[in-house]
Amino acid sequence: MIDLHTHTFFSDGELVPAEHLRRVEILGYSAVAITDHADSSNMDFIIPRIVKVAADLNRYSQTKLIPGIELTHVPPQMFGELVLKARELGALIVVAHGETVMEPVRSGTNRAAIEAGVDILSHPGFITEEDAQLAAERRVFLEITGRKGHSLTNGYVAALATRVGALLAVNADAHGPGDFLTAGMAETVALGAGISREGYAKIRKDMADLVVRVSRN
Ligand SMILES: [Zn+2]
Ligand SMILES: [Zn+2]
Repeated sequence: MIDLHTHTFFSDGELVPAEHLRRVEILGYSAVAITDHADSSNMDFIIPRIVKVAADLNRYSQTKLIPGIELTHVPPQMFGELVLKARELGALIVVAHGETVMEPVRSGTNRAAIEAGVDILSHPGFITEEDAQLAAERRVFLEITGRKGHSLTNGYVAALATRVGALLAVNADAHGPGDFLTAGMAETVALGAGISREGYAKIRKDMADLVVRVSRN
């Protein structure tokens, strides 16, 4: 199991990174990314701390902690500069908080995030076919989410991504210990979105490949 979109109390999650990591270690995860909510006010506060704790904890954990960030409600025009800044600060996984149907995320966010080269566009809501195609070309993962509310458009996202050949990731968007997905629940979320078993096997492989790629950098 791998999850690439989770929150600690460095934003609105509940756990300190050490407990967060331990909770998924006992679920048998091979890797987890901590991707707390950020804009230009707090990126330089959060990312170096997650980089540090990852270096510390990865010496003693079976689960690899990957430092990341989730650019959240930032103006679409700022994505380019903030993605660069996040990577400079050491974020290995950059998630964009996509145009979920549950929140007033600015229109144009999905497109701007893909163009800026985020790794994962989370809960992209009713993403357009053109944007999904661009995500496929740029190899930006679209997210199938376990999070209540955000998951309402999972079936739409899965069908469109499959049609245009976009990469998919299944993430919990966990904010507390009750939110982490077991391997079985992650599969249920994917199959429930209409993804085939073969499609799901490919998702697990694509996510594992991304972890290998970012871990090399
Ligand atoms: Zn949150
Ligand atoms: Zn999130």
